[in-house]
Amino acid sequence: METIFSKSLGVDGIGGKSGGKSECKLGDFLPENLLRQEPVGLPQLSELEVMRHYKALSDRNFCIEKGFYPLGSCTMKYNPKVNELLASLEGFTNLHPLQSDEDSQGALELMYNLQEKLKYITGMDAITLQPAAGAHGELTGMMIIKKYFEVKGETNRKKVIVPDSAHGTNPASAKMCGFDIVEVKSNSKGQVDVEALKELIDGDVAAIMMTNPNTLGIFEESVLEISDLMHKNGSLLYYDGANFNAIMGWTNPALMGFDVVHLNLHKTFATPHGGGGPGAGPVGVVEKLKDFLPSPIIEKQGGKYVRNYNITHSIGKVRSFYGNFGVLVRAYAYILMMGNNLKLASADAVLNANYIKEKLKGAYDLPYDEPCMHEFVLSGEKQHHQGVSTLGIAKRLMDSNYHPPTVYFPLIVHEAIMIEPTESESKAVLDGFIETMLKIAKEIEENPEEVLKSPQTTPIKKVDETLAARHPDLTYKN
Ligand SMILES: *Cc1c(COP(=O)(O)O)cnc(C)c1O
Repeated sequence: METIFSKSLGVDGIGGKSGGKSECKLGDFLPENLLRQEPVGLPQLSELEVMRHYKALSDRNFCIEKGFYPLGSCTMKYNPKVNELLASLEGFTNLHPLQSDEDSQGALELMYNLQEKLKYITGMDAITLQPAAGAHGELTGMMIIKKYFEVKGETNRKKVIVPDSAHGTNPASAKMCGFDIVEVKSNSKGQVDVEALKELIDGDVAAIMMTNPNTLGIFEESVLEISDLMHKNGSLLYYDGANFNAIMGWTNPALMGFDVVHLNLHKTFATPHGGGGPGAGPVGVVEKLKDFLPSPIIEKQGGKYVRNYNITHSIGKVRSFYGNFGVLVRAYAYILMMGNNLKLASADAVLNANYIKEKLKGAYDLPYDEPCMHEFVLSGEKQHHQGVSTLGIAKRLMDSNYHPPTVYFPLIVHEAIMIEPTESESKAVLDGFIETMLKIAKEIEENPEEVLKSPQTTPIKKVDETLAARHPDLTYKN
């Protein structure tokens, strides 16, 4: 070939003529004026050079394989590598989504079985695997709720109640669906204030969106009373299942009275995330909402697995085909591998969080001093008088090879530091983290200037945030 885009490929065999002598010109397929006349000038590098480049980039990144990643609300647990192997099996990766049911029995069986497992785990009656993320699941759930009331002729139900501790995606999803958001306050125990809630409930309320445990990592003890109040009002309850890692096998949203649930398979059910990669946010519903799910749902009919597109009041599709199939394979493998140990995973996640909380609560403020579930929220308020904010504490942690916790969320805690250790870390790792946090608290008292210089050991050191905001340099230079 003259160049990569030479006009005449002259490749043997293209066109499929026997004898292999046929000549095929790009001009046969594309108009001449669209063909590149000059080489494009791509860098010419060897495979080894390319590999070194990407390895160097990946070395600059932090990941769970490099160290403790206590990013609250994100459940950065260990993702067993065998799941990756299974998701990359050729039978799965080479399957075309338009292939017939007949040709796709294995994949359909997997999706059907996963639906069944998730029904069991959540207590819901039907599941869609389509949504591609938690927020996408929320939107799907809210669309279902909206259509449910439309079909019932209760179009006046325009309000959705959201606690002030909620994840930002909750009000955003409801709003995108056309609902008006009404905020309910938390009480001094960090839980929904039931008396305040009663004031907000009226005939125009469609639903309440809650997560339990909530974003403070605290279990909503009044959840049954709340679901009773809502149901008596003809309203529905949406469960944000992002915190499911705290409750697997111990309770479920159906028992708490919820009607619609999303799960984050990429949090609780072991798909690597954090870099914006593909996720899955399956949505489960109770019986009366079954006919509103997106289509298709995978069903078993006479020993065969089929895609059922015939769903009476379906909200339609929320994503192309069947969702992020590879994530579904990982979740299914993880659930099968764990079995009843899912319960143990939640117990360990809760134990680990309480352990760190108890060890740190003297050195840092703990605004809600309650037993926590899988995560808890400290405040950097106590350190503030030394000129070090929560952001400074987070950056100092990076010098000891820890990913910073989630900071400044939930919004109801000043200088929030949200720590979620997950079940997969050993006591030694937790102790190392505790020791570092205590050391930082001490350093802030004794030598705050040093803390303010952090991060000092990462590939990119402390950045000048003012300069970066005023004069952003967005080009890559060697
Ligand atoms: C992560 C999270 C979400 C959103 O999920 P995505 O998969 O990131 O869209 C919603 N609610 C809570 C509490 C979360 O932690």
